[in-house]
Amino acid sequence: MIGGGTDLMAQRDQGLAAPLVVIGTSAVASMRRIRTVDRGRIEIGAAVTLAELADWARTRVPILTSVVTTIASAQIRQVATVAGNLGQEKRCWFFRNDFDCYKRGGVTCPCYAIEGDHRLHHAAIGAHRCQAVTPSDLATVFDALDARIRLVSATGSREVTVTDLYVGPGELGLRAGEVIEAVLLPAEVGEVVGVFDKLQQTEGDFALVSVALCVRPDAEGRWASARYTFGGLAARPWSPAKLNAGVLGRRPGTAEVTTLLDHELEWEAHPLPGNRWKLDAAVGMAARVTSQALEARDE
Ligand SMILES: Cc1cc2nc3c(=O)[nH]c(=O)nc-3n(C[C@H](O)[C@H](O)[C@H](O)COP(=O)(O)OP(=O)(O)OC[C@H]3O[C@@H](n4cnc5c(N)ncnc54)[C@H](O)[C@@H]3O)c2cc1C
Ligand code: SF4
Repeated sequence: MIGGGTDLMAQRDQGLAAPLVVIGTSAVASMRRIRTVDRGRIEIGAAVTLAELADWARTRVPILTSVVTTIASAQIRQVATVAGNLGQEKRCWFFRNDFDCYKRGGVTCPCYAIEGDHRLHHAAIGAHRCQAVTPSDLATVFDALDARIRLVSATGSREVTVTDLYVGPGELGLRAGEVIEAVLLPAEVGEVVGVFDKLQQTEGDFALVSVALCVRPDAEGRWASARYTFGGLAARPWSPAKLNAGVLGRRPGTAEVTTLLDHELEWEAHPLPGNRWKLDAAVGMAARVTSQALEARDE
């Protein structure tokens, strides 16, 4: 499948993809629309461009506009698509530059990132043989929004969570003949206070660490639902279950969030020597988005 081609064409030049047949999604009308569907859910077609998504979301789901404006450049956002963003390959420097690592050369090859430079685009949580992370910023935000991804094939369709969409860093768990048809946002998305923060080397660059926080406050401002999701930390978007549970039913303070996340990371994190800094960054960013979410509710 090809959306905008901004990654697939690069992958072809880097020797990572050699498709014999390429099927474009931009002319598939059902993949080009955003509409309300069953039970008030919002369906975002796979071939909607990032620029179209940002325009649509500005007054409806502002966190989506916030994230899109941090991605690449205005020109790329005009052509890059929602599904292409989710499906883009990992940014590991070795992988993109023709090193015969485990992911390129197979099981007999090493992961060069373990001994090599792993400071920026590698995991600090839960990596196995490959240390890369999923680069999609939309995946981080869709996960925090509790979105579902609809996959379709000639034999039917199914929905998966954002985490279950991936079987590895930037690797989609699609069955034979299956494609992403749409992203589905919950009906309550209009009540969500959403904040996104991203650490990047330069404007438009990929996330080193990112966090999305989506909160649904009740009438008294207590958090009836809350989900933090981090990008750049693990092979797939990572949501800290204990922190999410710990902030429910109250207006948590930033110190409390810091303590909860620190404890959770003590158990979950396995950083490489050069990327331990990501854990400190994640804790600081979690505190920052927490206070921004509290302030947004108070405005
Ligand atoms: C300079 C630069 C900076 C960038 N910075 C960021 C950033 O900060 N954050 C970020 O998130 N992204 C970033 N990107 C990625 C960019 O935003 C695009 O989303 C991404 O390149 C792919 O979008 P595309 O539609 O062109 O996908 P394509 O290149 O068309 O496809 C990418 C992959 O997705 C698959 N695919 C496409 N559509 C479907 C479908 N319907 N079903 C199943 N598989 C499908 C393709 O087969 C391919 O494997 C950057 C890209 C560049 C070039
Ligand atoms: S992190 Fe993954 S892609 Fe990068 S060198 Fe290691 S095995 Fe290869």
